[in-house]
Amino acid sequence: MRDHLMQTYLRLPVAFERGDGAWLWDSEGRQYLDALSGIAVCGLGHAHPGVTAALQEQAGRLLHTSNVYRIPNQERLGAALCGLAQMDTVFFCNSGAEANEAAIKLARLYGHQRGVQLPTIVTTQGSFHGRTMATLTATGNSKIQQGFEPLVEGFRQVPYNDLAAIEALSNDPNIVAVLVEPVQGEGGVNAPADGYLAGLRAICDRNGWLLMVDEIQTGMGRTGRWFAHQHENILPDVMTLAKGLGNGMPIGACLARGEAAKTLGPGKHGTTFGGNPLACRVGLAVIDAIRQDNLVARAAELGARLLNGFRRQLEGVAGVTDIRGKGLMLGIALDRPCGELVTRALAEGLLINVTSERVIRLLPPLILSDEQADRIVDTVSSLVKDFLAETAAPAGGATAS
Ligand SMILES: *Cc1c(COP(=O)(O)O)cnc(C)c1O
Repeated sequence: MRDHLMQTYLRLPVAFERGDGAWLWDSEGRQYLDALSGIAVCGLGHAHPGVTAALQEQAGRLLHTSNVYRIPNQERLGAALCGLAQMDTVFFCNSGAEANEAAIKLARLYGHQRGVQLPTIVTTQGSFHGRTMATLTATGNSKIQQGFEPLVEGFRQVPYNDLAAIEALSNDPNIVAVLVEPVQGEGGVNAPADGYLAGLRAICDRNGWLLMVDEIQTGMGRTGRWFAHQHENILPDVMTLAKGLGNGMPIGACLARGEAAKTLGPGKHGTTFGGNPLACRVGLAVIDAIRQDNLVARAAELGARLLNGFRRQLEGVAGVTDIRGKGLMLGIALDRPCGELVTRALAEGLLINVTSERVIRLLPPLILSDEQADRIVDTVSSLVKDFLAETAAPAGGATAS
């Protein structure tokens, strides 16, 4: 039957049928510990009772009306998110790419309203912002762009974690915004130096540019703050969310503050499904559950436990070039391509990811127990040691990551 699916993914030969918290069971009844959460989506784990109850209740009441009417659940979720992020307004959509599309349109309109003829958005090398034409152009990875030219105009890229490179663009009158991930996810779990976002905030303020943070992977508590930019005590002008906001229910959001919040008016943007009563009800249940169980602080605590565990077991091991992370976004960089670790982990009943070829990426759910966290450390560490012992180091020795 899979012959009828476009082969956009090289899928692993496993299908899951049921989940409970951090556990998943496949069609043969085998059990797996989930250290990936569907790529940072199921922060509350699988089959969370609060999410399930909200979904069931709302499904029996009302799924969809239209954005031509008021949608109380959307107003409630908008107010809740604005309260958590100190933002003013929200546009709801169905995915991360759509949230970034809204941010890109907002920035362009903001520019045109100020007389900028060719509004340009600065993004960073190694970034990931989505797969639509504008968001793949914003993405700082040529592999994602190749074959889809012509790309969209109005984007410029600079190295990540390099304030001087952005400062150097200050004389370009077309720049209207900087779009940046607080921690690059797909790019290899790259956290910038402390002060990077605050530095960007200052540069944007000096130039009248919008600071737009893509919190699609980092948001909803994952890094140990509700939103990762809050580690630096700054406020962005625009913030995008998706992944963890619905715990598996498709939903995205573009939040804005101040002048940016007033930019998109009637007729300037829209969506049929975005912000429907069901998706917003689930978003509210996700926020309730994170609050009730103090999962933002718990993500910080679990992240430290995992990071310390990996440092104890893997620091100094030849072939391990870096162990890094922020909360429950963790990366272990090796000196060689290590994609096969995903299948090796699967055989051990553990779900992990490898990104940027050489970085093992872990995005476990925020509801992990200490025992589950320790099990992830033990399993991944021994898999890494075995893998490094069995495979050849790259010619020319270890390269930096
Ligand atoms: C996943 C992701 C996106 C794209 O989200 P989709 O829902 O797949 O469109 C954009 N930005 C970041 C940082 C992401 O991690």
